[in-house]
Amino acid sequence: MTDEIIRVALDTPLRRTFDYLRDPDAAAGIAGQRVRVPFGRQEKIGLIVSIESHSELEKSKLKRISSYIDEQPTLDSALLALLRWAADYYHHPLGEVIATALPKLLREGAALHESRFAWGLTTTGEAALRDGEPKRAPQQRALLERLARDPSGAPEDDLADWPRWRDHARSLRDRGWIERRELPPLRATNPSSEPREALAHPGSDTPAITVPQPTADQQAALDAVIASGDQGYRAWLLQGITGSGKTEVYLRLAERQLQAGRRVLILVPEIGLTPQLVGRFAKRFARTPLAVLHSGLTDTQRLEAWRRTQDGSARLVLGTRSAVFAPIPDLGLIVVDEEHDASFKQQEGGFRYSARDLALVRAQQLDIPILLGSATPSLESLHNVTLGRFQHLSLPRRAGNAQPPTLKLIDLRAEHVHAGLSTTAATTIEKHLADQGQVLVYINRRGYAPTLACTACGWVAPCLSCDARLTVYRQAARLRCHHCGADRELPRQCPQCGYAVKTVGQGTERIEESLAETFHGIGIARLDRDVVRRQDELEAVVSRIASGDARILVGTQMIAKGHDFPDVTLVVVLNADQGLFSTDFRAAERLAQTIVQVAGRAGRGDRRGEVLIQTEYPEHPLLRGLLEGGYEAFASAALAERESAAWPPFARLAALRASATRADWATDFLAAARRAAPKAHLRLLGPAPAAMAKRAGRFHAQLLVESADRAALHRFLDRWVPVVETLPEVRRVRWALDVDPLELF
Ligand SMILES: [Zn+2]
Ligand SMILES: [Zn+2]
Repeated sequence: MTDEIIRVALDTPLRRTFDYLRDPDAAAGIAGQRVRVPFGRQEKIGLIVSIESHSELEKSKLKRISSYIDEQPTLDSALLALLRWAADYYHHPLGEVIATALPKLLREGAALHESRFAWGLTTTGEAALRDGEPKRAPQQRALLERLARDPSGAPEDDLADWPRWRDHARSLRDRGWIERRELPPLRATNPSSEPREALAHPGSDTPAITVPQPTADQQAALDAVIASGDQGYRAWLLQGITGSGKTEVYLRLAERQLQAGRRVLILVPEIGLTPQLVGRFAKRFARTPLAVLHSGLTDTQRLEAWRRTQDGSARLVLGTRSAVFAPIPDLGLIVVDEEHDASFKQQEGGFRYSARDLALVRAQQLDIPILLGSATPSLESLHNVTLGRFQHLSLPRRAGNAQPPTLKLIDLRAEHVHAGLSTTAATTIEKHLADQGQVLVYINRRGYAPTLACTACGWVAPCLSCDARLTVYRQAARLRCHHCGADRELPRQCPQCGYAVKTVGQGTERIEESLAETFHGIGIARLDRDVVRRQDELEAVVSRIASGDARILVGTQMIAKGHDFPDVTLVVVLNADQGLFSTDFRAAERLAQTIVQVAGRAGRGDRRGEVLIQTEYPEHPLLRGLLEGGYEAFASAALAERESAAWPPFARLAALRASATRADWATDFLAAARRAAPKAHLRLLGPAPAAMAKRAGRFHAQLLVESADRAALHRFLDRWVPVVETLPEVRRVRWALDVDPLELF
C-alpha cells in the first residue's frame, strides 16, 4: 500500500517532523489537517505536512495516528508553503512556526468550525401550531409561527433581533413542541459565485459617509497601481507625509479587490493604540464583514475571528503582527501600514519573524500585489526601491488646506531651562494657547524621573535584577524598573547614609506636573503606557483632547501613533538627544522616524503648525539634515553611511543570542558556538555582552554573524544551527537565533 505514511509537525523545539502510520480504516488524510498522535507517553495535536509513501524509519517502529480532529484541512496549502518558508528562513522548528499561526484553542483541539444551531418544530409542535396553541401566550405563539416558516429550523443567528426569544423558546421546548438542532458547518464560499448584493458596495451602501474625492497625488498613486492590474505580484512603497491621506489610497485599492470578490489583509502596528484606522475601514465598508486580529483578544475572541477569516465570511482582515498568518481564502491584496514600525518584528521568544517581510513573501507566493505605507519608510524599503524591487509612490503634500509645519531647533545650552522646558518653548506654548491652539509635548520617558539620587553620598537607586536605575513614580510613591517590573517603596532618605534624596531628570509625570504649575487653569492630559493600557482609556484621553477639555497633551511615542488632532498647532520635542550617540546602528533611523512622526501631529487642520525640538547638540548632522532636507535627505545620508560601514541593507545579519543566570555561562556558550562554526566567508562578531547585560536577573550576550551575501549566510546557518543546539554548554542558557535582527544590544 502506498501513501500510508503521514508526516506530522508537532509543537516541539525539535527541528524535525514525525512519521506516523495511517489508520487503514480511515481516510488517508490531507496536508494541513490536524491530527492527534501518540508522542512519548502522552498524546499531542499536530498538523499533517505531507502524505508520503516511504519513511526513513522502519515501518515496525512507527506508531499509528490516533485520530483526525477535523475532516478538512485547518491550513491550506498556500499558508503551509508560507510557514515552511518561514521555518527555513528563520531556521526555526516547523512545528513551533505552525503553532504561532494557530489560535491557542485550535492548538488545544477546539473544533475548526463553530457549532451552529437552529430551532424547529417537533411533530407534536406542528399539531399544536394547527390547534392555535399556545392560546394564552401570544409571544410564544408568534415565535412558534416564526419557527414553522423554516422547514429545516430557524438558525439562532436569525433570531437575534427577536425580543426575549430564548425565554419563549425554553417554554415551548418544555412542552415538547420545538427542539434545537445542530446545523452543518459553513463552508468557505467562492465569493465570485455569490450574488453581487452580498458583496461590498462601498460608498453606495453607506450614504451617511461622504467619500472624499482623491487629491491629485492620491489619484496619481492609484492610477499607477491600477494601471499595473489588480492581480499579479508587485510591491509598492507608498511614501506619504503625515496628513497626506495614505489611508484613502488603502481604502480605494481595497474597494477594488472587494468588488472583484477577493479579500484584503491590512497589517497595522498596534491595533489597541490605533483605533482610528480600524474605524475608518469599518465605516467605509459598513456592510463588508470584517475580522480584527490582535493581541488584546481573549482566546475565545481570537478563535472566533480566526474562524471567520478561515471560512471566508470575513472579507476584510485587519490585524497586528501575527495576522500575517491569518488564513484568508482568495486573498487579493495585502497592505502593511506604518511598515517601518518595529512592532512588526517579533523580538522575543524563539520564533523571531518580521511580519512585513513575511507579508512580502506571502504576496509573492500568492502572486498578488502588496502595498507598504509610511511617512518615514525603513531604510531597507527605500533601498528596495533603489534596487527596483519596490515601485515608489509618493504623497508629498498634505490633503486639504493643511500646510506642513515649520521646524526649529532650540539650543538647550543657551537657554534657561526649568523642569526640562526652555524659556523659548514655554513662551511659544503660551502664545499658541492664547491663539486657541492645542499643544503636544513629547518626551521619550515615562514616570516622574529616571533617577533617584542621594544629595550627599552619590547613591542612586539601582534595580537589583538589572543593570538599570529605578524610575521614580511620585504620585504612587514607588520606584519601578522598566525592564523587569520590580516595584518598591519610594525611600524618603538615602538608605546608605540617611541624607535627603532628590529626583534627577524628567519623565512624563513630572512634565505634566510642571506644565500644570506654569499654565494655571489649562486642562492637561497625559498619554503613556502607565496611564493608558486599554483602548477605552486611550479613547478617554483622545476625547478630552478632541473636546478641548484638555489643551496640552504630554506623552511618549504613543502620541505619534495615528491620531489626528486637528487643533494641535504646536509640538514640542523635549529632548531629541537620546539616540544621537547610541551604539546601535539603527538608533539614528528610529530617532529620525520618531521626530518626523511626532512633528507630523502639528497643524493638521487649517492653521499652520510649529515644531520645536530641544537639543544640546543643535549642530548634529542628523538634526541639521532633518531640518534642512526632511526625512528624504536624512534617509539618503544614512543609507550612504550604512553602505560604507557594510551594515544592513548592504549586508545581512543574524544574531545568536543567549542569556543565563551567570554572565560567563552566556558568553561561554557563544564562544563555544563560535569555535564550532563551519568555515565560511563571513564575519563573526563577538561574543559580546549586551549594553544592558543584566536584565531581570539574567545575563544577556550575543554573537553576530554578518555576510554581504544572503544565500551564503543561510547556507552557513543551515550547517551551524544543528551544531549549536547540541553543544554541551547549551543546557545552561536560553538561546535564540534572530535572523535580520532589528535591535542590536
Ligand atoms: Zn547617601
Ligand atoms: Zn529591573
